[in-house]
Amino acid sequence: MRQLLQEVIQGKRSVAIGGHVRPDGDCVGSCMGLFQYLKDNCPEINVDVYLEDIPDPLRFIEATKEIRHEIDPEQVYDLFICLDCGDIGRLGFSGPLFSSAGDTLCVDHHISNQAFAAHNYIVPDASSTSELIYNLIDPEKITKEIAEALYVGIAHDTGVFLYSCTKPSTMEAAAQLLRTGIDANDIIDKTYYEKTYVQNQILGRALLESMLLLDKRCIVSVVTKKELEFYNATAKDLDGIVSQLRSTKGVDVAMFLYETDTQEFKVSLRSNGAVDVSVIAQYFGGGGHKRAAGFTLSGRYHDIINNVTRQIELQL
Ligand code: 5GP
Ligand code: MN
Repeated sequence: MRQLLQEVIQGKRSVAIGGHVRPDGDCVGSCMGLFQYLKDNCPEINVDVYLEDIPDPLRFIEATKEIRHEIDPEQVYDLFICLDCGDIGRLGFSGPLFSSAGDTLCVDHHISNQAFAAHNYIVPDASSTSELIYNLIDPEKITKEIAEALYVGIAHDTGVFLYSCTKPSTMEAAAQLLRTGIDANDIIDKTYYEKTYVQNQILGRALLESMLLLDKRCIVSVVTKKELEFYNATAKDLDGIVSQLRSTKGVDVAMFLYETDTQEFKVSLRSNGAVDVSVIAQYFGGGGHKRAAGFTLSGRYHDIINNVTRQIELQL
């Protein structure tokens, strides 16, 4: 696979890297890992990286200081590399740079990805986009900085090597990254396990108010805008709630909704295997993976829950 990256960057003078809206560990890890790699090894290329505001714990990755949060619509890149993003709409503010770029490459592991770039490296089975970036680069040239970023991405998207997407190749990539001397325990503790007081409060509230539906095979919880304001929390404080819901014994699907705008809800779905939630997310205009998917819907949350549970029921 290493040849693919070499071929695509051949002769390019300017490269932009972008990831999905509301960037998570894998999105930030894959973008920063590739950004640092290209900066270290291709001095003839001007590389920029575009991402929305990132989760605070990921700021320890040095290169995140160079992230651009706005675009100059006049700027045209020779190549746009789109990472961890299942469709163009999910690129958000960097979308116009993808459209105007001379060439495009998409590296992703979302099952819903329609291979929308000129060059595509899409492996729905892969643990993470960060593992795919590892496959694309020269392992001899992986510095500690690159390893930190890619390790964060792999660890976050595998639930720290627990989820079924963790393959022998995932562990081999992680082992190679560890050999650079990164402090993996500290990194994962600070970026994955550690929660602020507010995060734990809102998690507690979401668990307390959760409901069991579909003969207790589906667990649902909602956080409204008003509740976010009450706890002085933002969307970034809600990570991990849906995973905790999913761990409930006997449950096949967990559904977590939060209000992004008045009567507009971001819906996260997690499955324990019996239901393919990517099918449900795609039905509602979103995407994702078999066991983790999401979408946004407008309306009253009671109606959204009714509509989504009806789709879940079709698979039970
Ligand atoms: P989460 O529930 O953590 O936001 O997302 C779970 C998975 O579904 C992630 O891989 C994410 O990229 C994908 N996903 C979440 N929301 C959307 C969406 O609105 N559209 C698409 N295409 N994918 C989504
Ligand atoms: Mn990912």
